[in-house]
Amino acid sequence: MELLKQRILKDGMELGTQIVKVDSFLNHQLDIGLFMALGKELHRRFGHLGINKILTIESSGIGIAAITAIYFDLVPVVFAKKSHPTTMTEEYYGAPVKSFTKGTVSIARVAKKYLNENDKVLIIDDFLAHGEAAAGLASLVEQAGGTVCAIAAIIEKEFQGGSRKLRDAGYYVDSLAVITKIKNGQIYFKESSD
Ligand code: 5GP
Repeated sequence: MELLKQRILKDGMELGTQIVKVDSFLNHQLDIGLFMALGKELHRRFGHLGINKILTIESSGIGIAAITAIYFDLVPVVFAKKSHPTTMTEEYYGAPVKSFTKGTVSIARVAKKYLNENDKVLIIDDFLAHGEAAAGLASLVEQAGGTVCAIAAIIEKEFQGGSRKLRDAGYYVDSLAVITKIKNGQIYFKESSD
């Protein structure tokens, strides 16, 4: 998606060769106008799949998932929690997820009442790196007997192998901007990611 690529080049910052910082529009301050364009584009790519729920993980996926739901007839948005709050008193589905940025493993949790066998789910996350978060979310859907229709990332770092791993496992994966490498302070995109 050209608009997103240009925004990453303008306002994104590479931290070494592995991490991209996009705090000014996606991860700290949120550009809602951009989110609306991203949501519309996600609907153009996935709107034909009969999706009736969007699943993401706290916290960076929540904003974009919420705006995207507007373009999917206001389907419910569920986000997995990474900790076990005392308010989560009901039974939950859980899947271990290794954090890309922290290296620690936490259990992604969704209360059982928010996922079920009739769900046709679009999984959304801000970044796709090793695919840990997306695989964990897919596991939660499948534990509930639901269907993972597609996995969507706003920004994919293809060179970290997550999309290949998820596609090998049979998932339909598509990302709005695909980074092929970060070298000498320069971010390179896959041409066909529009
Ligand atoms: P994965 O689980 O695919 O290895 O990593 C995806 C998760 O790690 C996302 O939820 C995202 O929050 C975080 N992440 C991975 N790579 C980056 C990055 O380059 N920048 C930022 N800000 N977050 C990232």
